[in-house]
Amino acid sequence: MGRNGKIIETKRMNKIRIAKFISSKGVTSKAEIANILGLSMPTTLQNVKELVEEGIAVENGVYESTGGRKAKALSIVPDIGYVIGIDITNHHITIVLVNMKKELLQIERIRKTYAPDFSYYEALGDFIRRFILKLKVKSEKILGVGISLPGIVDQEQKLLIRSHTLGVSNVSFKSLDEFIDFNFALENDANSAAYAELGNETENTVYLSLSNTVGGAVFLHDRLYLGENFKSAEFGHMVIEKDGRTCYCGKKGCVDAYCAAKVLMEHADGNLETFFDKLRKQDEECLRVWDEYLEYLALTITNLRMAFDCNIILGGYVGGYLEEFRMDLNKRVLKYNNFDIDTSYIRMGKYKLEASAYGVTMGFADAFFESLQ
Ligand SMILES: [Zn+2]
Repeated sequence: MGRNGKIIETKRMNKIRIAKFISSKGVTSKAEIANILGLSMPTTLQNVKELVEEGIAVENGVYESTGGRKAKALSIVPDIGYVIGIDITNHHITIVLVNMKKELLQIERIRKTYAPDFSYYEALGDFIRRFILKLKVKSEKILGVGISLPGIVDQEQKLLIRSHTLGVSNVSFKSLDEFIDFNFALENDANSAAYAELGNETENTVYLSLSNTVGGAVFLHDRLYLGENFKSAEFGHMVIEKDGRTCYCGKKGCVDAYCAAKVLMEHADGNLETFFDKLRKQDEECLRVWDEYLEYLALTITNLRMAFDCNIILGGYVGGYLEEFRMDLNKRVLKYNNFDIDTSYIRMGKYKLEASAYGVTMGFADAFFESLQ
């Protein structure tokens, strides 16, 4: 690349950074862009002007920043494109529609038991088609379909390498091509949920997902650390109790056997909401189970903090309930951790059931902005 080429490329990268920043902020101002991205005002003004002229961004209304100064509110034009997100679990499919402002527009969830066969793909394709028809979104505006799976995924080969939860290994998703007319991509469910929770994150963060299984993601230097074999952040299978409870992976004493949502649900007819209702009513059995759960969770959080020394987000189905029990959890964590003076590095997740379906759309949204010229 010659000198001019380099200048053009740097200019394009600034434009992409600005567009992505506006998208993840939802609403922002030129001053905020220049300030947070460390760009000069002329560079910011020129790029914003281009984005507005190209119909990608729009100036609409007033934006009051923290400094109290009023500025023009800048946001992404929401309908320049849409992404469909799908989360596949053992017995359910969750589908969402997200626009380029990263707004979650629609959620639908159906009961459908996973099977690695033709009829499942056919049903999935049908579900997507009907969902789009109902929304009345033009199919040419759909940039792609992200699919979140509970297992280890090879994105290039569109292969589910292994899923304990679904009880399968080496399942190719390539044949899904026959049933959907869009580009699609696969992603691990915990990574997807992490994208949802880390949308605005600029700091290094570890994400601990407390759903039917325990998983996680490591977000370092603005990207996910996937591991040499796509197996990083399998926090659910760290051993926290020697010869402890048997985990579904076959080992004993894994975090999953103590901190998965199912550990709580078993005591409430398989329903997490019911568990917390009973807990709030001081049900003795639930109080005992919860006490033990929080204790193991505190241990796991402390181990993660010792290993990564960064923020920790607690997400997944249980994560959505934790804010209420924050004080209790803080006390327990401080008991194990004598390296930190407080627990301000612990954050609670915002999403419950839809985190993975929403988060798996982020890759397509980012790809859209990265393709800007
Ligand atoms: Zn395990």
